Amino acid sequence: MLETGKKIMEMEKKINLQPSPNEGAKENSNYLRGTIKESLNDPLTGALREEDQFLIKFHGTYQQYDRDLEDERKRQKLEPLYSFLIRVRVPGGVATPQQWLDMDKLADTYADQEIKLTTRQAFQLHGVLKRNLKTTIKKINDTLLDTIAACGDVNRNVMCSANPFESPVHAEVLEDAKRISTHLTPQTNAYHEIWLDGKLIEGGEKEEEPLYGKFYLPRKFKTAIAVPPRNDTDVLSNDLGFIAIVENGQLIGYNLTVGGGMAFTFGNAATFARVADVVGYFPKDDIVKVSEAVLVFQRDHGNRSERKNARLKYTIDRLGLDFFKQELFNTHAIVLQPAKDYKFETLGDKYGWTKSEDGFWHYGLFVEGGKLTDKKGYLAKTAVREIAKIHQGTFILTGNQNLVIAQISESLKPTVESILKQYSVIDGNSISLLRQNSIACAALPLCGLAFAEAERYLPSLVDQIEVLLAEYNLLETPISIRMTGCPNGCGRAPLAEIGLIGKAPGVYNLYLGASFTGNRLNKLYKETLNEDQILAELSPILKDYSINRLDNEHFGDFVLRSNYLHPNATEGI
Ligand code: SF4
Repeated sequence: MLETGKKIMEMEKKINLQPSPNEGAKENSNYLRGTIKESLNDPLTGALREEDQFLIKFHGTYQQYDRDLEDERKRQKLEPLYSFLIRVRVPGGVATPQQWLDMDKLADTYADQEIKLTTRQAFQLHGVLKRNLKTTIKKINDTLLDTIAACGDVNRNVMCSANPFESPVHAEVLEDAKRISTHLTPQTNAYHEIWLDGKLIEGGEKEEEPLYGKFYLPRKFKTAIAVPPRNDTDVLSNDLGFIAIVENGQLIGYNLTVGGGMAFTFGNAATFARVADVVGYFPKDDIVKVSEAVLVFQRDHGNRSERKNARLKYTIDRLGLDFFKQELFNTHAIVLQPAKDYKFETLGDKYGWTKSEDGFWHYGLFVEGGKLTDKKGYLAKTAVREIAKIHQGTFILTGNQNLVIAQISESLKPTVESILKQYSVIDGNSISLLRQNSIACAALPLCGLAFAEAERYLPSLVDQIEVLLAEYNLLETPISIRMTGCPNGCGRAPLAEIGLIGKAPGVYNLYLGASFTGNRLNKLYKETLNEDQILAELSPILKDYSINRLDNEHFGDFVLRSNYLHPNATEGI
């Protein structure tokens, strides 16, 4: 092992001989300050200086521009219409009614009036202009939420299985998610200085990031916890994951999972989506220590030369699990036990009313594409606002972009029901199980990386697929479908039974054969299909599935068993 370790260290030195420019940007940023303040105060442009556009991600915001207006702005010789996405960290997705009301107001006042619920249990506001950025972030902090580390080369919002009120184990897991989140949050005062008018630390040079150092991580780092049998956090898609192990109703520990990640680049074989390895078990009290150890491993061994190969999945792939486990022992004296048995049954959420043992009710609200908005005949945003005004419990953002209105008392339930009815809010149980299990990333018009539509288009494509499902009597069969506007993985399309990844406007690659429980990737079935072609490809397979599936056989498993995929079809590219 010693010899292997030495060889690996030598190999890493070579890889990191030429750090990427982003490493220099982090090093020279004075712990994420850069010239963000100056950029914000420049009235001549709606954009930030180039290096600040990178640094600002660590503060939870991205600079974007409206691509729908691009040509018109050019014609008028105007700069692009720049605006900012703000991502709000909500560890475990749990928010109070007051926080909900404040986010709702901020969406109306400074953003595009929509509340976006992300696939990582965070809030997102879109379309915030530079002149309103500081005020909006300050007001988010006033409501006791924050945006630091919601993006950037750091640990992101920590996810956990939705609804801590479902059982004492779920509640305990939420507390663990919060502890990890707190421990792995960057310590820099830059956030307070820039957004909250905190006092400047003289020169900034005395400041330290005990865990991250001035280079932070090589790339983003995602963490999630799942409580079987529900894998609603897609735990194996994360860099770092924990699967709760429960015996006799008690949480005893976790299986550790490492090296998941969904992003890849078309035409670059050195990049790929990857399902995490389940590497071993440890007792529950060690969860923060184990989290730190894995983060430190990635900090010290990740590729800092090539950002496309910088996520933990590539580090694990390159160095191997034996070396990884040895390093966990070397740095934190962690010895993993063999992984314990667990079983996932679904990736999805519960919709409609459920009652927990403590007598409280919980309502699972379907939010298509995570976009909570008011549209003609369907005033979901207004309905949730009205509920928040009287609600005594909590709101829980799920990893499937949905919302649980939790802890509703028996006496309040009829009022909540009447509000939902008054604003024509759809009961998630009344829609097809395909739509119930759909996810779309934000994509166009604001995501600068999108090749194609996702959130704005998937609902209408699902309408078309539902016609086929009705014909083949499959409307009540759960099938997962996910669409992203590019292969960067925000909507976790490689883990969908029907995955659609945008290649160009109106054109998608179709991927099939993933499991319904999030432990097997799909594979490329056909490339560059338009809507008619997607439907034409899916129709005979769905028909065959409706006739020839085994009892309880999921669509992805059927596709694989029936040899629909070419023997050389590759997963995760
Ligand atoms: Fe943008 Fe691609 Fe992420 Fe979708 S998957 S939000 S298109 S980066």
